[in-house]
Amino acid sequence: MDARSPETSGLSGLIPTGAELAVLGTGATWSEGPVWIPATQSVRWSDIPADRILEYSTIDGSLSVYATDVEFTNGRTLDRDGSVIQCSHGRRRVERDRGGAVTPIVDSYNGVRLNSPNDVVVAADGSIWFSDPPYGIVVSIEGHPGEREYGDNFVFRHDLETGETRPVIIDIEEPNGLAFSPDGSILYVSDTSAALRSVGGNHHIRAYDVDGTRCKNGRVFAVIEDGMSDGFRVDIEGNVWTSTASGVTIYSPDGGRLGHIAVPETVSNLCFGGPDGTTLFITATTSLYSIATSTRDATTTPACAQEA
Ligand code: MG
Repeated sequence: MDARSPETSGLSGLIPTGAELAVLGTGATWSEGPVWIPATQSVRWSDIPADRILEYSTIDGSLSVYATDVEFTNGRTLDRDGSVIQCSHGRRRVERDRGGAVTPIVDSYNGVRLNSPNDVVVAADGSIWFSDPPYGIVVSIEGHPGEREYGDNFVFRHDLETGETRPVIIDIEEPNGLAFSPDGSILYVSDTSAALRSVGGNHHIRAYDVDGTRCKNGRVFAVIEDGMSDGFRVDIEGNVWTSTASGVTIYSPDGGRLGHIAVPETVSNLCFGGPDGTTLFITATTSLYSIATSTRDATTTPACAQEA
């Protein structure tokens, strides 16, 4: 394990004194979609261009290839039963991995295929909310080039009980990362539509009031001047921890910039985990990093951080 003292400006209440940024594993092409898996005390993430899923064990510090030929998985989250919900660019769907058995959850809207689901969260009511930008149907290193069959890029809510898939946000150009506030009343979604363009597009996080199964009052929460907010998480205080080109930037619930953790590679995404839920795991280009924090994910209690 390589460790270094990070630049953690403005984060005295969130990062313990002396915390070190550690490289846990490297050798990936483009890392994304980390999730903490309590049952195995491991972090699982996507190496999208290599079309494989990697896993790092905090028990013995080992890095392993969890699966290959996975149809370009991207973002993932843990469902309440401990199974993993993940996005597949190649299969143009959201799917479930339960003990290595992968089954579809949702792959269509209104009779046509989704674009390439990018990131996913589970709401308090058990419904699955996911972003559907075009990044997995544009270039062959991230999926299979194809058409946007419903002609847009939405955020959807999928109801597991009724099977209904409904757009909840339609005014983001290219939605990407997403996360709920601690009480579920706000949904944050990033727009990374500047990613594929030389000029124009957005690189910000928007916030929406969640009104039952609908999102209203969309507004810009934070503009990411340093690259993109590809992926992010919200802590128990409601702070938003987002990827940027040079590390992880933390915003308070009112959108104020609290500070920044410098990371030597472009960051794509992150998740909280570890035995007590307070370790921040960071996927950044070729590597998985970690750093200790003084908080945990808004959706994770200490008990469920330790148990499956
Ligand atoms: Mg993403």
